[in-house]
Amino acid sequence: MNEKGDGAKREDRAGRNDREGRIAELKGAFLEGKKLSPTKLAARIREYGFHCLQCGECCRGEDHSVVVFPLEIRRILTATGLGWLDVVSPPEEGEWDKDGSFHTLEWRLKKEGGSCRFYQNGRCSVYLARPMLCSTYPFYLDNGVLMCSECRGLGGKIESDEADKMAERLILRYLFEIQEAIALLEIYRDFERGEAGKSGECIVHDSEGEHRIVGEELVE
Ligand code: SF4
Ligand code: SF4
Repeated sequence: MNEKGDGAKREDRAGRNDREGRIAELKGAFLEGKKLSPTKLAARIREYGFHCLQCGECCRGEDHSVVVFPLEIRRILTATGLGWLDVVSPPEEGEWDKDGSFHTLEWRLKKEGGSCRFYQNGRCSVYLARPMLCSTYPFYLDNGVLMCSECRGLGGKIESDEADKMAERLILRYLFEIQEAIALLEIYRDFERGEAGKSGECIVHDSEGEHRIVGEELVE
């Protein structure tokens, strides 16, 4: 059995300390996030203004990428009857381990021909089960501060009750994403880095652990 050298043990310890520090930060952000006022947030949303023009630009394009978490994936599986890898793909960014397996983080909604695969005939075919990122687009919270992505509908007239609902969804999404990040870090098992290999395996780390894809099959 190989014993790790002092250097590797020090790196392990440093990695663990980094991770514990990040988890502590996220827990702090979660507690702060719980104090966010939906009323104030709704007022900021009304200042921006938003009315979706249904142009579909947030559902297609080369740069289009929707991060989805296991709970959201299951909602789409239930709504569509599709299999896991019909709904999501691993992202392309990642690292190789010493056995040549590719490791990456979180899932992305599957694309077909440059669009989200659920964008069909100019509309979302999983509207009621769409991910939180979609139901809050173009808004998001960064450290609790309202931000927005590119969208033709910004500046449009938003009804008061729609702004209230958007604010509630945004806070829910913000807290949910922090919880997902904490769960991922708590369960994440680091690995020894290596060169790109031909193992044909991809390992996706998410809040539920590791999911192994071999070829086109999800094996665990
Ligand atoms: S949210 Fe914005 S980008 Fe998306 S369909 Fe509506 S107007 Fe277009
Ligand atoms: S799930 Fe629906 S709203 Fe979200 S990107 Fe796909 S088609 Fe657009």
